[in-house]
Amino acid sequence: MNPVRVRFAPSPTGPLHIGGLRTALYNYLYAKNKGGAFILRVEDTDQNRYVEGAEDYIREALNWAGLKLDEGPDVGGDYGPYRQSERRKIYQSHIQTLIDNGQAYYAFDSAAEIENMRTQLEQKGVHSPKYNFETRMQMRNSITLSDAEVKTLMDASAAYTIRLRVEPQQEIGFEDIIRGRVVFNSSELDDKVLMKSDGLPTYHLANVIDDHEMKISHVIRGEEWLSSTAHHVLLYRAFGWESSMPKFAHLPLILKPTGKGKLSKRDGQKMGIPVFPIQWNGSDEMFGGFREMGFLPEAVVNFLAFLGWNPGSDQEIFTLEELMKAFKLTDVSKGGARFDFEKAKWFNQQYILTSDASILVEELKKQLKEVNIERSEDFLNAYVELFRPRIERLADLFEAGKYFFQKVDQYNNKMIRKKWKENGIITYNFITENLAQVSQWNAANCKSVIEDGIAACDSSFGEVLPLLRLALSGDVKGPDLFDTMKCMGKLFVIDRLKSAPNVFDQLIAES
Ligand code: GLU
Repeated sequence: MNPVRVRFAPSPTGPLHIGGLRTALYNYLYAKNKGGAFILRVEDTDQNRYVEGAEDYIREALNWAGLKLDEGPDVGGDYGPYRQSERRKIYQSHIQTLIDNGQAYYAFDSAAEIENMRTQLEQKGVHSPKYNFETRMQMRNSITLSDAEVKTLMDASAAYTIRLRVEPQQEIGFEDIIRGRVVFNSSELDDKVLMKSDGLPTYHLANVIDDHEMKISHVIRGEEWLSSTAHHVLLYRAFGWESSMPKFAHLPLILKPTGKGKLSKRDGQKMGIPVFPIQWNGSDEMFGGFREMGFLPEAVVNFLAFLGWNPGSDQEIFTLEELMKAFKLTDVSKGGARFDFEKAKWFNQQYILTSDASILVEELKKQLKEVNIERSEDFLNAYVELFRPRIERLADLFEAGKYFFQKVDQYNNKMIRKKWKENGIITYNFITENLAQVSQWNAANCKSVIEDGIAACDSSFGEVLPLLRLALSGDVKGPDLFDTMKCMGKLFVIDRLKSAPNVFDQLIAES
């Protein structure tokens, strides 16, 4: 068996859509499952659509997701160059073979002439006319022109494209690993342009030549390329490479959260959800990313793996390593996969719960730096432990417990009015005084002072705990009260407990 070699072949025409990252992930998982190679090939032959910075973006996104390349423009490898714009000579020599054996031909028609042919046929009632086995005979190409005419045009440097000569009535079939047997009839196909007038290959030609030259064993790509595969198979035939053609697997579409239609980059903006792995700062457009929204890469990878695949068991949390072991292309579904942002948040939450504290502390430090706040490592570590079960995104770390760092900016007035009453007030003050006497400040001691206070004042948890919480955080919910007190520190807690009664009285008076 030939070694497994797969490629992720993006065109650097803008940021990598989250669906592109899923394609990269499935390629990676398949390769690693089989002990094969994961290759990055940059398909940059369309100069008009080239976007500065897109290639760097792709690399950064792959790197963030932890998909390590075995070969590619930066890492090198035995089958380079890995950027198509650097492979012109290879395409030139291969296309010559097709011209020589009559499988491809020169076409000198201008855009206006082709348009004219289409309009005329449309007027005659032909539905979406093509440059194909029928119409080519009315056009100016090396099939209809004499050799002398062709030579004259060539000598005069007339612009031309090179087209694939597609003969009608051939069955084009291949086995798709996900979809089963797929069959096309060549009569439906046009004579695809293989080489453009700028001397650069089109996607189809470059893709097939490179997959062959790079000994790609499996082409794993989005469903949108399924119909192109018909031309690709014809190209493999034309080159005489059909017997060593890669195997194909076309991945399902990623659908909008509503389940209707393909997820587009505009959906992200419309629905306030990220559809890009990392932020894109283009010259004319900007898109937010999962990374900047506070997602852990492991969570995004786990979420993406499940967009179109499942292991056939109840297990949902998979490390990259575990995914590598479990992943099978034959378990990928044919039908579109709904992009469920709530599920993405759920995965993130699961990873935040188990993530290394240092990752959370680093993230929190970044957020604190923006507001010029510094705290000790001990404090930050205790804080992230309190808040990791309470957030869905890393970006919410600081916001979730802002009252640990800054004055309470909002009080739950309704609860204050309900709870700031006689017996509660007496117990609260009693406990505050006793807490001020605690010499060893820890959660257990805070707890016993509070319990003793409640007993001594003949009060109850329900009467006083909400008041302590309101004083410390402004509200009645939050992480464990005793751990909160421990983390905040004695001076901070006593200060807040002592100043809160004035605030409460004032709020009640104002309401
Ligand atoms: N360059 C194509 C893209 O942008 C590659 C498709 C393929 O994998 O063949 O997705």
